[in-house]
Amino acid sequence: MHQLTLAEIARGLADKKFSSEELTKVLLARIAQLDPQLNSFISLTEDLALQQAKAADARRAKGENGALLGAPIAHKDLFCTQGIRTSCGSKMLDNFKAPYDATVVAKLAAAGAVTLGKTNMDEFAMGSANESSYYGAVKNPWNLEHVPGGSSGGSAAAVAARLLPAATGTDTGGSIRQPAALTNLTGLKPTYGRVSRWGMIAYASSLDQGGPLARTAEDCAILLQGMAGFDPQDSTSIDEPVPDYSASLNGSLQGLRIGVPKEYFSAGLDSRIAELIHNSVKALEKLGAVVKEISLPNMQHAIPAYYVIAPAEASSNLSRFDGVRFGYRCEDPKNLIDLYKRSRGEGFGPEVQRRIMVGAYALSAGYYDAYYLKAQKIRRLIKNDFMAAFNEVDIILGPTTPNPAWKLGAKNSDPVAAYLEDVYTITANLAGLPGLSMPAGFVDGLPVGVQLLAPYFQEGRLLNVAHQYQQNTDWHTRTPTGF
Ligand code: GLN
Repeated sequence: MHQLTLAEIARGLADKKFSSEELTKVLLARIAQLDPQLNSFISLTEDLALQQAKAADARRAKGENGALLGAPIAHKDLFCTQGIRTSCGSKMLDNFKAPYDATVVAKLAAAGAVTLGKTNMDEFAMGSANESSYYGAVKNPWNLEHVPGGSSGGSAAAVAARLLPAATGTDTGGSIRQPAALTNLTGLKPTYGRVSRWGMIAYASSLDQGGPLARTAEDCAILLQGMAGFDPQDSTSIDEPVPDYSASLNGSLQGLRIGVPKEYFSAGLDSRIAELIHNSVKALEKLGAVVKEISLPNMQHAIPAYYVIAPAEASSNLSRFDGVRFGYRCEDPKNLIDLYKRSRGEGFGPEVQRRIMVGAYALSAGYYDAYYLKAQKIRRLIKNDFMAAFNEVDIILGPTTPNPAWKLGAKNSDPVAAYLEDVYTITANLAGLPGLSMPAGFVDGLPVGVQLLAPYFQEGRLLNVAHQYQQNTDWHTRTPTGF
């Protein structure tokens, strides 16, 4: 039963082949048995899950239907869950039980999804390896000595290991697409403003976006449908109607114009990944797509711009964690300054502290113009590059990551080496565009992802292309040995 996709679960439940309660029990037992190897969960919510599963079964018994009614999922542990620990992977929030549900959590619960637990993540979503979590590193089910990617590494490892069919993630600079690539999943970062950020603990507010991680594009469509939509509680949420994503999956790719940026194939890209990307282009050409070389001339400036903007916003967002109102508080503070200093010094891990320092520096008087303002200008140039490219093509295709999953600890001594892994993903966040990563093959037994980017609100186009690709390839069906 653990092999079923969300779409298959919906059919099985509708045909009364099994109940949500039965399925939930199977998956909870599987998590108890296998997760100790992976460390993909921070909290399990067995009681809530069984209660939600029974409620979903009762709704189905009354004739209700719905793709998510009774479907087991998990939430990245930065989505607030009422009465349940919401740690953000940090000691700072180890004792924090959210007083309310994030909009995404509430919407999915209302659609009948069953929450099995909260997944592990890089501390405050800062990272590309899931090694900065206070709760320990997550392991990649494809090779337990390798990282699963980050920051939504717990969601990715759990879904890849078939502990559950799908999970939520968030993507500030690649944290849905990159772990999806490194664990052989399909992951989608929606257009900025498509999914409510209300109740999603902020890292960099102008970049953060929630989205689905699943095995197939078909399942991403189902989960995104439950997450997307206007939310008056989020001032950057956009009041655009949500299309039927599942209905968009079967469009023909005849004449689809795919742009492949020449800058993507520079020195930093593993040549074996480049070959797999070319293979995926050929597969799409067979389905009728036409390929064109394009240029994103400012791409080389994306990493420096992102690593100024994201830490700047983080330094401001994380100032609320002061040891006074909620979260960790140091023992026996001598005075208010001592309380702030030690609560933050003891509650935040080294990567978070590094980002706060970089961000505060970039925003400080005297350096603001040189760093923050400059980075914002680059951000606009990057957006302009995409706008020009999308005048010529319908979709942009390339690698999701320059390398396959690296060994645990391999980049710990050099944070910049890890930042460079984000080169293909962060531009979509800087421009606010939707992006998707899907399985494209293997290098040394480790999965490789191909990334698709589309114009604003064209999530349906991304899902359509990915679904058609997945109807004609079988990379996404491969299962890691031992799971
Ligand atoms: N790796 C990037 C960072 O560390 C992106 C993380 C994310 O998308 N949350 O900032």
